[in-house]
Amino acid sequence: MSQLARFANDHGIRNFLFSFSDLFGVQRAKLVPASAAAKLEADGAGFAGFAAWLDMTPADPDVLALPDPASLTVLPWQPEVAWVACTLQVNGQVLEQSPRTLLQRQLARAQALGLEFRTGVEPEFFLLDANGEAIADSADRQSKPCYDQLALMRHYPLISELMEAMEQLGWGPYQADHEDANGQFEINWTFAEALSTADRHAFFRVMVRSLAERQGLSASFQPKPFRELTGNGCHLHLSLWDQQGRNAFHAPSGACGLSPLAYQFLGGLLEHAPALCAITNPTANSYERLGGSTTTSGATWSPAWISYGGNNRTHMVRLPDDQRLELRLADGDANPYLLQAAVLAAGLDGIERQLNPGPRSDANLYTDPPQGAAARALPSTLAEALEAFSADSVLRGALGEGFCQAYEHLRRRS
Ligand SMILES: [Mg+2]
Repeated sequence: MSQLARFANDHGIRNFLFSFSDLFGVQRAKLVPASAAAKLEADGAGFAGFAAWLDMTPADPDVLALPDPASLTVLPWQPEVAWVACTLQVNGQVLEQSPRTLLQRQLARAQALGLEFRTGVEPEFFLLDANGEAIADSADRQSKPCYDQLALMRHYPLISELMEAMEQLGWGPYQADHEDANGQFEINWTFAEALSTADRHAFFRVMVRSLAERQGLSASFQPKPFRELTGNGCHLHLSLWDQQGRNAFHAPSGACGLSPLAYQFLGGLLEHAPALCAITNPTANSYERLGGSTTTSGATWSPAWISYGGNNRTHMVRLPDDQRLELRLADGDANPYLLQAAVLAAGLDGIERQLNPGPRSDANLYTDPPQGAAARALPSTLAEALEAFSADSVLRGALGEGFCQAYEHLRRRS
């Protein structure tokens, strides 16, 4: 019996969502009945590649989506349906620009060094009215709305439903809050092996939107939906673990409790930051968050400089404790798979070349921006980021020319 057929039997599944993330992070899917799952598990579900953001033409042959049973996820709000992430193939070859494949390749690079990448993401989102124009809760008007208890509890029906769903899925949710913009929320769940986090991140975006719609709302992950309010970040917490299951970033005697390996990884992030932005901050709107002027709450909470600090949220990378790095660069438009693939590629280059990130800054960069020749600003437009991306031969080599050209072509056109 095929793995999907067995899963359908065991869980009472009537339909599978054969799903993939295109280059813009849009989740595409076909609904496959359990009766056909065994055949399509072997043959793949066919898609016209041009119809998604994959940089293909209408003349190209079918893209076949082959499910990865390890990613099977029962929809908590529709338990007769199971979501499954797919690997894309064309003419029997894995599609080079498929985001999930890109991440798997970088994970294999880390594995060859005896390292496992573990990550957690914090995808912030707004809850808006049904047509996505205004903040859903008209009473949510505090000028400093972060952690607003009343506003959090007015959305209790949706937030608690999301947390219960995550509990049921075994993600280990541990907190939810009202964030720094009116109408903005965040739910945190436990970090995990990176591919698992990326699949959950992709599924989370679908789940938040779906459950919001069912309650007459809409959810937006857009980087900067309102000019005067804090934007939607997607902070990434990361560490590398060795084959004995020890955190290779942790070193009690190192600065901020971090090992030389962690600092080399950090060196890679700083070195490749301008090019990384093309992936972590992929739309024109992304740069309204990064370069935004101060918001009504008093801070943008987004970085403007290529820098790192200790437990200091004004820097691109924060070292919040002795276990991990927090990259605060990415926003809600980042593709869950490409985000981690590009970040890992940059970090592994730092490790391979033993890059030194230089001294830590403990300045409040919102009031004391860096001065002099060492000050490196983040790109201020998508065009600038794409220019840096096209010039970064190391990152391109790691991600593959096929992907890079497809991605640039689509981003320059959009
Ligand atoms: Mg946050």
